[in-house]
Parts: sequence; structure tokens; C-alpha cells
Amino acid sequence: MKVLKFGGTSVGTPERMRSVASLISGAGRNVVVLSAMAGTTNTLVEISDYLRRGNVPGAQETLNGLRARYAAVVAGLYRTAEAAVRATEALDRSFGFLARLMSEDFSQAEEKEVLACGELMSTALMQTYLEERGVRSVLIPALEYMRTGPEGEPDMRYISSRLRRLMEADADVDLWLTQGFICRNAYGEVDNLRRGGSDYSASIIGAVLDAEEIQIWTDIDGMHTGDPRYVENTRPVGRLHFEEAAELAYFGAKILHPSCVLPAKLHDIPVRLLNTMQPDAPGTTIANFPPDGTIKAVAAKDNITAIKIKSGRMLLAYGFLHRVFETFDRYNTAIDMMATSEVGVSVTIDNTDHLAAIVDELKEFGTVTVESDLVIICVVGDLEWQQTGCDFQARAVEALRGIPVRMISYGGSNYNISMVVRAADKVEALNLLNRHLFEN
Ligand code: ADP
Ligand code: ASP
Ligand code: MG
Repeated sequence: MKVLKFGGTSVGTPERMRSVASLISGAGRNVVVLSAMAGTTNTLVEISDYLRRGNVPGAQETLNGLRARYAAVVAGLYRTAEAAVRATEALDRSFGFLARLMSEDFSQAEEKEVLACGELMSTALMQTYLEERGVRSVLIPALEYMRTGPEGEPDMRYISSRLRRLMEADADVDLWLTQGFICRNAYGEVDNLRRGGSDYSASIIGAVLDAEEIQIWTDIDGMHTGDPRYVENTRPVGRLHFEEAAELAYFGAKILHPSCVLPAKLHDIPVRLLNTMQPDAPGTTIANFPPDGTIKAVAAKDNITAIKIKSGRMLLAYGFLHRVFETFDRYNTAIDMMATSEVGVSVTIDNTDHLAAIVDELKEFGTVTVESDLVIICVVGDLEWQQTGCDFQARAVEALRGIPVRMISYGGSNYNISMVVRAADKVEALNLLNRHLFEN
């Protein structure tokens, strides 16, 4: 059994849907996880924003545009009028729900239901298309098995038992279809696994079914050495260790949702990143590979704020760092990076919701300065410090000659060197690193 996840662009047009249908038909026992068609979740976010602000005409106009887009998809996808009618009826369950919201007060729970419509619609379209082609498949609604617990983490035992039971009902089937991204929370309300979360759905499903492989099908031939949206001459990386992939995903490589690696790693299930547009390209395999002493890729995390606490008095004295961390903890604010010296400690955060309150409290411990508009540039690979002749940190730092570096962190794990630079220098820094580290 394999789990195959197809992202938004992979199901973004009738042609792409047809290609996915060909890839998954007669391809063995597979669970296929679909995202919403490209652009849909963003449009649903827009509709929610209008409704939250009480701008019903804005919401209505955006909804009309979405409806027209799906009507065009239905017209382009199906050969028979009968399939088109069935697909339209299925879509109308979502469009009917959205239309009813135009006249009501809007709640936060409804916002989550609005966002769920994208995956409900893409899977309905695909299921009807497979039926039209005579391919037997069963649609398993994610809202009937995907659930998070009180802490917002997936409830793996519940998911495992529910999903297995739902699949047993059609034990003779080879192809199951389900929605990525969407779930119910501990209170039974519709919720989601956060933006880009279909990768996480696939990994959770792979883990609970003990799948042989998890395939993430997207619009690029695997994890590249750098983010191709900013960097020239990137190339795909053939193999990544789970830890390397986790670092890259966490530090901004959009191709993978940050939470997606862990369930696969815990169950030792290889994850392959593949390109729907180039199905024969080898892509990237993420697995428990032995160390190979190479730098694999560079990622960047945006919207970073650095906070420095300077204190001659108590720095590095017993309990000081604990009190600093405890302050961030109390405001549920995760620290990404830190650097310490005898007279100061600097940390970075990406969530500034409670920045003012945090700074206020930190002022008890010393002089506090805040710098924003920064990014973390993260060089990832098998960077074990004792490997002689590799000079990982020297090569990374050397590449950024001429760019001011606010902080450096190396040794937190064997897998990354992180450097904080100004957001304005991000693109240049990423291109310099790609040239120095990979173009030779
Ligand atoms: P999907 O809709 O299939 O989930 P995403 O847009 O979430 O696809 O992820 C694929 C995109 O990730 C690529 O098109 C690319 O622009 C971006 N990306 C960012 N960093 C990398 C990287 N290091 N390697 C490959 N793609 C990357
Ligand atoms: N459709 C969701 C999003 O756009 C989930 C996903 O594509 O992974 O965020
Ligand atoms: Mg994605």
C-alpha cells in the first residue's frame, strides 16, 4: 500500500486532473490524497475575510467568481452530460453552504468550514471523473477519520482505527481517494492542519496504515538545492535524510509542510517528492540514509525578529536563561535560534503577536533591543563537525562575504548551519550560497 498526495497545481486544471487520473488508475493499492485545486483555498480565505468584516457584497462577488471557475472545470473535464450533472450536484453541496453564509453572522467555526470546501470539491470532481472512466475507487471522507486532540496534534490512535474500519468496508478496492488538509478537532468541529497541510495528511495516513511509501506529487522534480522562486540554477537533490528534510521544511522549503516529515520518520516510511508534469523524473527520496558528509540544500525562513537582552549583572548566572525562555513560553512564542555571550543573549522569533508584552517583561533582566525584517538562512546537510576536510561552516560563511550576518548558529544539530541576515539581503544571500555550495 502506498499513499500518493497530489498538490494544488497537480489538480489545478481539467488536463492536470486527467493526468493524475492516469497516474493513479491501475497503479496498485493506493490511498490518494488530494489538495484543493490551485488558488481555491486562497479564494476561500478571501471569502472568509470579507464575511468576517461584514462585507457581504465582496464575499458574494468572490464566490460568484469561484463558481464560474468550477463551472468551467466541469465543462472541460467530463465527456458525458451525466457525469457533469453528478459533479455539479456534488459541488453544489459546497456552493450551497457558501451561499447560505452570505446572509448570516459569521463565526470562527464557519470559517474553518469555508476553508474545507476546496478539498471537498477537488475530491468530488476526481471521484466523478474516475467513475466516468470506469475506474473503481472509493472516496473516504477525511472528516470521518482525521481528527486532532485537545493540543491540536493528530490523534493517531483514533485516526488509525477509524480509517482502517472505513477501508475494511471496501476491502476489495485498490484505489481510495480522500481529502488532504481537513480534519475535525477534539470538539468535533471542522478544522484543518494549517496551510499546506495536505502533505501532513498524507504522512499521517501513511503512518497509521504503515504504508510502504509516501509520495508527494507536486509541480517540481523534487527538493532543489535552493528555492527556485528566488535562486538561479538550482538542481534537484536525489536523497535526503529525514532530519535534513525536516530542517528544510521547517526553515521554509515550501515543497514540504513542516510537520510532514515526523510521522514518516517515526514509522521509517520513505517519502518521495515527485513531479506530476514529469512523472519519470527521479525526484527526491527522503529516508533513513546513512551519513554522506555532503551539503544538500539551503532554505530561508521569512519574517524573523531578533531580540537581544544585554545584562552585565546576571547573564549566564544560574537561572537566567531559564527565566528568559520561560517568558517566551508563557506567551506561547517559539524561539527559532539563539546565540549567547558573556554579556548578552540574542534569540529570534517569527510570531510577534505578543512581542510588546514579552519585551516589557524581558526589560526586568537587562537592556532589550528588537530588530525586525530579518530572515534565517539555513544551510542543510550531513554537517557532522568532526568530519575533516569538509569545512562546512567556513564554506557557508565564506559564501556570504559582503553580506552583514546578524547571528550564526551551528552545532544545534548535525544537520544545519543557520544565519540571520536582513530580509533585503535574502535573495542575494541565497544566490551566493547556491553558487558557492552547489555550482562546481
Ligand atoms: P503543492 O501545491 O503541490 O503542495 P507547493 O507550492 O506547496 O506545491 O510546493 C511546491 C513549490 O515549492 C515549488 O513550486 C517551489 O516553488 C517551492 N519551493 C520552495 N523551496 C523549494 C525547494 N528547495 N525545492 C523545490 N521547491 C521549492
Ligand atoms: N489547500 C490547502 C492549502 O492551500 C492545503 C494544501 O494545499 O496542502 O493550504
Ligand atoms: Mg504544498
